[in-house]
Amino acid sequence: MSISPAAVTGPRRLLKRVRDVMAGPGSAEERLGKIVTIIAADMVAEVCSVYVMRAGEVLELFATCGLAAEAVHRTRLRTGEGIVGYVAAHARPLNLRDAQSHPNFAYRPETGEEIYHSMIGVPILRGGRIIGVLAVQNRTERQYTEDEQEALENVAMVLAEMVAGGELVNRDELIPADGIALLPLRLSGARLAPGIGKGTAVLHEPRIVIDRMVAEDPQEELTRLREAMRGLQKHLDRMVEAVGDIDLGGGEDTGDILDAYRMIAKDTGWLNRITEAVNTGLTAEAAVQKVHDDTRARMAQVTDPYLRERLHDLEDLANRLLQHLSGQFQSPAFGNLPDDIILVARNIGPAELLDYDHTRLRGLALEEGSHTSHVAIVARALDIPVLGGVKGVLDKVEGGDPLIVDADNAQLFVRPSEDVRAVIDGALKARAERKALYAQMRDLPAQTHDDVNISLNINAGLLIDVPHVIESGADGIGLYRTEIPFMVRSAMPDIEDQTRLYNRIFEQAEGRPVVFRTLDVGGDKLLPYWQDMTEENPAMGWRSIRITLDRPAVLVHQLRALIRAAHDRDLHVMFPMIAEVAEFRAARELLDRQLEREAGRGFVPRSVKVGAMLEVPALVWQANSLLGQVDFLSVGTNDLLQFMFAADRGNPRLEGRYDTLSPGVFSFLKHLVELCDDRNVRLTICGEMAGRPLEAMALIGLGVRRLSMAPASVGPVKEMVRSMNAKSVEQYVLSLLDSPSKSLRSRLKAFAIDHGVKL
Ligand code: PEP
Ligand code: MG
Repeated sequence: MSISPAAVTGPRRLLKRVRDVMAGPGSAEERLGKIVTIIAADMVAEVCSVYVMRAGEVLELFATCGLAAEAVHRTRLRTGEGIVGYVAAHARPLNLRDAQSHPNFAYRPETGEEIYHSMIGVPILRGGRIIGVLAVQNRTERQYTEDEQEALENVAMVLAEMVAGGELVNRDELIPADGIALLPLRLSGARLAPGIGKGTAVLHEPRIVIDRMVAEDPQEELTRLREAMRGLQKHLDRMVEAVGDIDLGGGEDTGDILDAYRMIAKDTGWLNRITEAVNTGLTAEAAVQKVHDDTRARMAQVTDPYLRERLHDLEDLANRLLQHLSGQFQSPAFGNLPDDIILVARNIGPAELLDYDHTRLRGLALEEGSHTSHVAIVARALDIPVLGGVKGVLDKVEGGDPLIVDADNAQLFVRPSEDVRAVIDGALKARAERKALYAQMRDLPAQTHDDVNISLNINAGLLIDVPHVIESGADGIGLYRTEIPFMVRSAMPDIEDQTRLYNRIFEQAEGRPVVFRTLDVGGDKLLPYWQDMTEENPAMGWRSIRITLDRPAVLVHQLRALIRAAHDRDLHVMFPMIAEVAEFRAARELLDRQLEREAGRGFVPRSVKVGAMLEVPALVWQANSLLGQVDFLSVGTNDLLQFMFAADRGNPRLEGRYDTLSPGVFSFLKHLVELCDDRNVRLTICGEMAGRPLEAMALIGLGVRRLSMAPASVGPVKEMVRSMNAKSVEQYVLSLLDSPSKSLRSRLKAFAIDHGVKL
């Protein structure tokens, strides 16, 4: 969008005058008083006021031209209260012909504002945070133009420097420190990547100090902007080359993500908004900052996690562009850093993370962040624990603070006390020792004292998980969740992409069997590029095989890719959430047709085995017919148990209400084991319970011989298997089947302790 010179002369003049007053003599309040008078005159408004955010989220009137002078420092509005509070709460301008008829209008008698009708308020933003509101009012019902709004926003931008400078209110008030900043703290968050990390806080704030906000010559600023853009593009190109070899699996590698960055950097909408701000009188830096602040403020309103991540990518780019403009490459990644970095950020883009020396990164604590964020995927690939959603972390942590990211228990320790450090040191040491122990057991068989062999397999979902099958000494991949690669991408992968990915999995598994589960989406597993599938009861809704049978094209493509990748190899395909034999038959028919079609193209697997996941109890009552058709069965206890007990596995109020180690579950599984044994159908348990030693012990007692679990569980479960006697566990477990107890957990634990079973 281009703006005519005449349209911008006014705003530029206003900005320059505001800047001159800001830099001139007098106290900050006196200068602010002059500024509101200048703005009122320039906009032909009867009122111009500045409200500053004070501790406790209260907006206080600091200067006014037009409202009663006694109201200064007396009129205070909470965020969300009145029009001014509304602007602050929504971080957006509000332009009203008749403010008094707005539902949020709050009349304050001390101001004498009852005679004013039209009103425009714009947020004063700094670093994505609201630090005040600038408002203009008129008696008449006037509609302020877009240009006027833009001009006010620019002035607000310049004023932000003054407010943030600490002359009006103490800077401590702008950055709520709540007086406990130096005491040890424990903050909670969400585990985005597992592990525990201990180190020194590095604040990732590549914030550039802008000392020139108002442009002398907009043309020159536009030239600087273009040059900086070129620099940024080159930098991104270099980064793509440098990190191209870090493979994230899931069909998406860091190169793909950075490519998306390059595309955003070329997006004309973004550049236009910056150019527009330069045209209205801001320097290139101030213009980027303005667009950046707007974006950050808007981000606070967006709830869609995928969109938030894309907005964040944009923010990351704005930061980088500022660095190119100012020549200040301030990312701490380029400075002197401790050897044990715990990075603290509001959010961080994958490219920014990759700027750091990842061998020194011990953890990441994010104020925001989500499971779908690319940065979480990169961090998992690099084995860095990540905590997201740590509310207040930016306010409460200082650079250099000792920190402990305990992602496994979803907590962050800030300046931990000696006691906490000692506990964490103990946990880290124990983890390291156990890891070493498990590594030693890698090539030992998972065999009980009485020579029963148990097949231990891993569950995987990303390419980086696959090498664990070799490292952990597992027999194969018992469950490859193919939906995860679909979930981390921004578009549906095509057949070629999928074939490449499945090929890599086969290669990395080095001949060990891999059970590919077909797309299992819906419920809590949403694809970013599919329409909103909000349902009242998603766990029991249109999900998994129900979707892929209703929309067979997706399944057909996936099956073709699997067949092509499995050429001359053993193909194991498993269909999820099968509730009735007819569903399995329909899915299998689709597979058979694709096998025939691909054979005509020269793709022929060495062998094909087809199985079903048993997650819906109804299927057991068709066992006779089912077992004649499947080559194997795998029990997904995560879903199965929520359906058996009719208890949503994600509902915290039901947590602990029913136990997997209970007579009902045992009887069900015992019956299933017998059915499969009779018909010689291979049975695996691949839900979370298979990876917990006590549960695994009970399953073996029930006759289960194959387990599939998270790679980190293979060591502990193998250690347990090698310390147990299958016969004696079986006798004990069977003796519990008719128990009226709710849970058999404590009895099983006691049994394990008495019999030297290592849990
Ligand atoms: C299960 O339901 O137990 C299972 C393994 O599948 P997911 O956890 O992927 O739903
Ligand atoms: Mg499941």
